[in-house]
Amino acid sequence: MTGPLTVAGKRGIIRRYLDQLPVSAATPIVTLDEGDTPLIFSERLSQETGAEVWLKYEGLNPTGSFKDRGMTMAISKALEEGSKVVVCASTGNTSASAAAYAGRAGMVCAVLIPEGNVALGKLAQALVHGARVLEVKGNFDQALELTKQMADEQPITLVNSVNPFRIEGQKTAAFEVVEALGRAPDLHVMPVGNAGNITAYWKGYREAIDLGWSDSLPAMFGFQADGANPIVTGSPIASPKTIATAIRIGNPASWSGATDAANDSGGRISSVRDKEILEAYRSLAAEGVFVELASAASVAGLRQMAAEKRIPPGATVVCVLTGHGLKDPDWAIAGAPRPLTVEASIGPILEHLDLA
Ligand SMILES: *Cc1c(COP(=O)(O)O)cnc(C)c1O
Repeated sequence: MTGPLTVAGKRGIIRRYLDQLPVSAATPIVTLDEGDTPLIFSERLSQETGAEVWLKYEGLNPTGSFKDRGMTMAISKALEEGSKVVVCASTGNTSASAAAYAGRAGMVCAVLIPEGNVALGKLAQALVHGARVLEVKGNFDQALELTKQMADEQPITLVNSVNPFRIEGQKTAAFEVVEALGRAPDLHVMPVGNAGNITAYWKGYREAIDLGWSDSLPAMFGFQADGANPIVTGSPIASPKTIATAIRIGNPASWSGATDAANDSGGRISSVRDKEILEAYRSLAAEGVFVELASAASVAGLRQMAAEKRIPPGATVVCVLTGHGLKDPDWAIAGAPRPLTVEASIGPILEHLDLA
């Protein structure tokens, strides 16, 4: 193809990083133009920490989270392999992304969830994109086990975090960071749930070295929530608790990926309190960046590192903001002041704005 189509053809992470991904000319590319998200300089966090802080705003992906980077790969490969159906056990961003990309590909997306206690609002995206949502009479582990069985016995592809193509797609975020900064940051800070994403970033940074795009590696710092911190405590947690639902994980699928990234890079896996996550969420929003609670764990973590004097002055730091705040607007409304009712005249309005 020539002309403008060539430019359009560079959209989406698979076309942009074709040579760095396990795809071939035979791979049908299923994309919603994911990736190429902004790396936003944070004046306030830089002043607060004495570092140069950049925010990788992954909430601006097509379905509102970084999951789209992995899903474009997982769905494209599923289609290439002749799958007609994809399945996942998720009520969150994985099912939202899987449903959108499966819809794009003309595939069926099945979402298995445990019966009862799942708020339909959490599934709004999966539902609107046409996923077949099945409530299984059992718990989450049983639902997950059934998805595995389905994938073993039928031409069905499992797109939960165990799908290796998701890590491949997600590593492209590290390429973008390196491209934007001209090198890797000194410190890389991010939330950790199932730990697929920290595994992917670390892979991406290491490949960027091999490709000659960067001549250094960052120290990798991953943050779990205090009530859901199995990697920190060293053993699985049966009932993980945190307000940050996207990282409410008691037994991470990519556990060793996270510990390898931290150990090999001179970083650390640590945890932050819900209260600190909420404070970080509010201060990011005050600076104009609306994120999901789980995403704010990275900035809460950054502050913890600053308090522990772990951030060298002037260091370049990237905080990953994994998902968009509109995913869970209840937290934005909770704790915010109610709108004031005023008379329909300018005097009282200016008074309330402290301008009178
Ligand atoms: C999936 C997700 C996470 C956790 O990522 P892992 O790869 O499971 O560690 C964090 N934040 C958001 C918004 C997510 O969707």
